[in-house]
Amino acid sequence: MRIAIVGLGLIGGSLALKLTEQGYTVFGLSRSPLTCEQALARGAVQECGTELAQLQAFHPQLVLICTPLEQVLPTLTALLPHLPAATVVSDVGSIKQPIVEPATQQWPWFVGGHPMAGKTTQGIQAAEADLFVGRPYVLTPIAETRPQALETLQSLIAAVGAESVLTDPARHDRAVAWISHLPVMISASLIASVSQEVDPLILELAHTLASSGFRDTSRVGGGIPQLGVEMARHNREAVLASLRSYQQHLQQIETWIEKRNWDKLSQFLEQTQRDWRQFPVNQP
Ligand code: NAP
Repeated sequence: MRIAIVGLGLIGGSLALKLTEQGYTVFGLSRSPLTCEQALARGAVQECGTELAQLQAFHPQLVLICTPLEQVLPTLTALLPHLPAATVVSDVGSIKQPIVEPATQQWPWFVGGHPMAGKTTQGIQAAEADLFVGRPYVLTPIAETRPQALETLQSLIAAVGAESVLTDPARHDRAVAWISHLPVMISASLIASVSQEVDPLILELAHTLASSGFRDTSRVGGGIPQLGVEMARHNREAVLASLRSYQQHLQQIETWIEKRNWDKLSQFLEQTQRDWRQFPVNQP
């Protein structure tokens, strides 16, 4: 299969590396000749260009749009005049509702996608062929999506070693608010709270003592600011609902501690310990 990848950053570059490794013919499209040079040097792509019109000569069967979320729809619109009929198109944006319906209206061979893997660094140099191995990769077909387009994406997901998960855009966005977007806001607030410690000696000691627990809970809050803003801006309602629920729980914990209600706190932590085990990612 001939695959074009638009935007050779962390996600686009990682897909390109893995798909090339798996024997697909991959054409990269970047805004920058330097990124093209780096992608070619890393063996991520066989050909690379900086103009969308170059796609015409490549005759892609599948195009993956791996730009920042806000650029997905404009990129699709700009791509359409250069695509052979029935070319399957997908994106990797981490929020699906604002994209999937308008994109499918323009091109029924579009399928919304979201690989559930990432890093705190960006760009082609951060790309890794095995980034998606064993990770869920969400597809969000709607009624108008062509079934063949969905099948093409499912075989691509198997090729990068990920697991397909099918759902609709609205459910996807609510679920990722809980497990991806809320954690970024909580983790960022944790870092901000610690960093406001007024005693410089205590702060220095906290920096020295921070170990795996702090590393785990602060990691996503120390990531790329642009991605956090993207989440809040484009999944605003679901992020606000999750933040309100979280604040209620924090308030409850504060009240129990103020009132020395250790039984209630214990029951709560026993329940969260049981709930934590329900997530496959937390199972041994
Ligand atoms: P990234 O490393 O910054 O890559 C994005 C690439 O898009 C850039 O390298 C650039 O490629 C291109 N680009 C940047 N600005 C552009 C613009 N204004 N117009 C057109 N192209 C532009 O970011 P990423 O982490 O790969 O994120 C890309 C997408 O993946 C986003 O939609 C995000 O929601 C989604 N996603 C991210 C993660 C994560 O954890 N990072 C996880 C899952 C999904 P060129 O320089 O080659 O043009």
